[in-house]
Amino acid sequence: MIRASDITNEIRDFLVGQTISIMGVAEARQLPEVPEEFSPQFIMPDARSVICYGVPIPRGILYAEHYDLSLYWRYCTMLYKSLDMVSNSLSLFLEERGHIASPLYGCYPMKIVKREYWGLVPLVYWAQAAGLGRLTKCGLLAHPEYGTRMIIGGVFTAAALPPTETIERDFCPEDCFACIDQCPAHAIDRSGKVDHERCMRHANASPPLAFMVRDKTFREQFSIETLVNTIAVDEHATYSCIECLKVCPLNR
Ligand code: SF4
Ligand code: SF4
Repeated sequence: MIRASDITNEIRDFLVGQTISIMGVAEARQLPEVPEEFSPQFIMPDARSVICYGVPIPRGILYAEHYDLSLYWRYCTMLYKSLDMVSNSLSLFLEERGHIASPLYGCYPMKIVKREYWGLVPLVYWAQAAGLGRLTKCGLLAHPEYGTRMIIGGVFTAAALPPTETIERDFCPEDCFACIDQCPAHAIDRSGKVDHERCMRHANASPPLAFMVRDKTFREQFSIETLVNTIAVDEHATYSCIECLKVCPLNR
């Protein structure tokens, strides 16, 4: 019988083969911050582990003298798609070893509930539980080395894998509120709650999405959720603001 730690090593090797070196495992339990309808068991009742991994965003993109937004936009468009493909392949890799698994996509599709935007399973909470970093005051995950310059992906599986140790210390200095104060849309409040709709409205640079959301005919025929998940998906034109990343001292 293959031991759980051996499977974890195989997963690690698989991810390193995809040039991903940051990974962790969390128990697929219900987390107090997350409503039940967004838990792994809502999708897979047998889910026992959440595998999370991350790839940093180069500092050179965030602090580019010119074209930082264009570079960031393109980076996100490519990276989210490639991480989603890694999640697909890892799910199949686990199933070949007898463990049912499903990809947890990093960004889209989104669910909009009471004007709040959620991932089908909001991966960032399980990434914190998997020891990839700590949630910051602006709701982004901070990694000890890369700060909030991280894009994450994941898979959940029925395999019972040993969980990774969680990071307990907070990375945000007590007196730092730079991301909150500098947000041009005033989308982050001091409790760390982010108004995603406000952020999306400010950061959306997708002409077709803007047009369809404004147009009465489209609005009557399709939900905002459908429009966002069809027009913005794989293109990440809703990512044309990086102020909260740029001002964060953890990213320098
Ligand atoms: S991306 Fe821009 S608008 Fe959105 S929370 Fe960050 S600073 Fe605010
Ligand atoms: S800007 Fe300051 S408060 Fe915001 S995430 Fe970075 S360290 Fe934390």
